[in-house]
Amino acid sequence: MKLSDFPLESIGLPAALVNWPAGGAVLINSALRAIMGDRLSADQVPAFEDINALLGGQLQDLNPESETSITQEIKIGRKRYSYVFTTGIIVNEEMSAVLLLGVDKSDALKAEAKLTSYVGIIEENNRELQRLANTDPLTGTSNRRALFNRFQDLTQQIPDFHCTVSILDIDHFKRYNDEYGHDFGDSVLKTFAEQVRVQLADRAIFARIGGEEFCVVDYSGSSEVAKGKLQGALDMVRDLQLATPKTETVNITFSAGVAEYGKDGETLDDLLKNADRALYYAKANGRSCVIPYSADLFEKRDTTLIARVDSLKARE
Ligand code: GH3
Ligand code: MG
Ligand code: MG
Repeated sequence: MKLSDFPLESIGLPAALVNWPAGGAVLINSALRAIMGDRLSADQVPAFEDINALLGGQLQDLNPESETSITQEIKIGRKRYSYVFTTGIIVNEEMSAVLLLGVDKSDALKAEAKLTSYVGIIEENNRELQRLANTDPLTGTSNRRALFNRFQDLTQQIPDFHCTVSILDIDHFKRYNDEYGHDFGDSVLKTFAEQVRVQLADRAIFARIGGEEFCVVDYSGSSEVAKGKLQGALDMVRDLQLATPKTETVNITFSAGVAEYGKDGETLDDLLKNADRALYYAKANGRSCVIPYSADLFEKRDTTLIARVDSLKARE
């Protein structure tokens, strides 16, 4: 069969038959001639260069052994169309040629591009929703929900997981609101969160779990190290000089109760409960201190602390 005998016209799609290796005659059907528009005059015999130019030079670089399609934007009149030309090799005793069959994929490609951009927007929105659902809006720290989720993840991901769970409560926080206004109270919370988060950042979760209460899950090392880090954070916070709306500056301190994973509980709920008990004693112990939970202290009853807590209760 010769190139010119190929029944190209019977194919309802724009089609071309190109001698391969490239060169010599090119056969096109009337559907392809139609999309060539002004690129080809009515009586002009198409040459390889004409088809190659229509396909933006991609035909000359085509490796028909490995490539099965050419995508090309084609301007017809004032409009642009996206054509995908499927390529196939035809080999017989007389010839070796590449058959190109064009399909207008403009609408499909536009729809695909729109879909991709909508999917991108939806994914971006989901990420933002996820972030908002896990973040405390005032301080930008993790919230209670994120704390519980991350704790769950950590216990599953880290072999021989160990940590301390501490509750940090700013001392006499109400006074800042009362004395300098709620906005100043907010700025104290922001500064506190920013400073303490940086101080404890290494292998720790830092989350706001209440008005002026924060939780630290420290899984960086032993509980001694974690308590040392908390004490360090307390020393750092004590040194901060916060400018108030009045002339004076103020300092902040916090009290903390610490519970140890394993010894004082396995679940975050239990650990928080015991950290909160220890915090209660930290408040009774004069505030501005870090008190570890211990069964001795809370079950056998440490008399000095209990005496202080009892006298505190009596005054309330
Ligand atoms: P203590 O040392 O015993 O912890 O005393 P405290 O004053 O810190 O504790 P208390 O529980 O009496 O007061 C906490 C106050 O925190 C009461 C509440 O109005 C205030 N608060 C809670 N959330 C916010 C907030 O988001 N912004 C501000 N400005 N204040 C808040
Ligand atoms: Mg509190
Ligand atoms: Mg407080």
